[in-house]
Amino acid sequence: MTKKLYIKTYGCQMNVYDSERMSDVLAAQGFSSTEVAEDADLVILNTCHIREKAAEKVYSDLGRLRAAGGPDGRLIAVGGCVAQAEGAEIRARAPFVDIVFGPQTYHRLADMVERATRGQAVVETDFPTEAKFDHLPGATPGRHGHTAFVAVQEGCDKFCTFCVVPYTRGAEYSRPAQAILDEIRALASQGVREVTLLGQNVNAYHGAAPAAGGGAGGAGPDGDWTLARLSRAIAAIDGIARIRYTTSHPRDMGGDLILAHRDVPELMPYLHLPVQSGSDRVLKAMNRKHTVADYLKVIDRLRAVRPDMAMSGDFIVGFPGETDADFEATLQLVERVDYASAYSFKYSPRPGTPAADLGDQVPEDVKSERLHRLQDLLSAQQRGFNARMVGRRLPVLLERPGRHAGQMVGRSPYMQAVVVEAPADAAGRMVEVDIDAVNSFSLNGRIAGGEWSPRPLYPASPAVAATPVAGSGL
Ligand code: SF4
Repeated sequence: MTKKLYIKTYGCQMNVYDSERMSDVLAAQGFSSTEVAEDADLVILNTCHIREKAAEKVYSDLGRLRAAGGPDGRLIAVGGCVAQAEGAEIRARAPFVDIVFGPQTYHRLADMVERATRGQAVVETDFPTEAKFDHLPGATPGRHGHTAFVAVQEGCDKFCTFCVVPYTRGAEYSRPAQAILDEIRALASQGVREVTLLGQNVNAYHGAAPAAGGGAGGAGPDGDWTLARLSRAIAAIDGIARIRYTTSHPRDMGGDLILAHRDVPELMPYLHLPVQSGSDRVLKAMNRKHTVADYLKVIDRLRAVRPDMAMSGDFIVGFPGETDADFEATLQLVERVDYASAYSFKYSPRPGTPAADLGDQVPEDVKSERLHRLQDLLSAQQRGFNARMVGRRLPVLLERPGRHAGQMVGRSPYMQAVVVEAPADAAGRMVEVDIDAVNSFSLNGRIAGGEWSPRPLYPASPAVAATPVAGSGL
């Protein structure tokens, strides 16, 4: 008999990806997904530690789940970063939880479920010695079939003082290039045209090169591949028209990756590059390992090679010790970069991180006021960016039917939803769209031509690929 699985996902795209992989692992054990928690034989809370009071929210969700009840023999599992950080504490505070597992162990879920069904309490939060990705089924296309997330890197060695990721996800690990290429070829053969490469420090990617002759596994004669090298190989896969990657660290935006944005038309001209603060003093206290000038230099170089490059960012306001002058420096940085979109948060201490123990915490009302000012500026920039699309011709990947008959919705290179008139069987096609109007959450336009191919629009030139960018120091 089919068993039902309900997963609640908190947090980032990596967690969304992890939840999909958990479903794939458990599908092989006869589990099918349900949207209704009370119907599920197995409920998984795939948690995130980034949000304030993350653990408390998990405990209150657990309380609600318990009160709502479920089928006889139902199992409750807590996975993700809160599970990694809290470990056995979760079972101590919520003994009805059957399984606690960290982000590095979910490839063993079938075994954990089996043990829990036999009444064993399961806590798996060690970092296993085997590579999780070697034990997972291949990635599957996203909901509409034409886009997919592919994890290429995981973990972080940077140790920003506010962040739990190095503790919950562990050290940096890059998957071998061959395994990634094989996975993306399989996705392309299923109709996927856009891949988003995922990793906590995705541009630090340094995976083993394919073995000579293309066999799976080991390092090639030229050593590890960088993300730039990997992107070039992915772009050459038939059917793949778009490549995105997230999340990047400014220090790892190497010259070859910047040049790839010039030479690889499939790399989208839209980059999420968190900076967190516009003050060198605060960046140092955050242990970001770069200055404001380093960050701006990367953006200038990117824009020199791809003038249509748009930026997205992350900001934390009210980091301990942040003064009015520090905050004004952040506003100046935002003015200078002109973001297409951004995420911004008030600092809140994460237990176990160095910043949580710093004195000089910024009062809550000051944080709120700063966040308000920053978000006003970022929202105005985002509105301006969207408004500037009107009158432009954009390549759009059509993904799904729109709200009204005869409409399709696709994505621009900048992740904007674009609504056009098109038949339902146009899903998966890349078209050029003349943008007529901007709404709150989407753009409207008309299809200008037939199937869009990136190559004629942005011809790659191997002859210039190795040439330094003039004046950039690359
Ligand atoms: S780079 Fe910093 S913010 Fe990003 S995952 Fe690593 S420690 Fe966290």
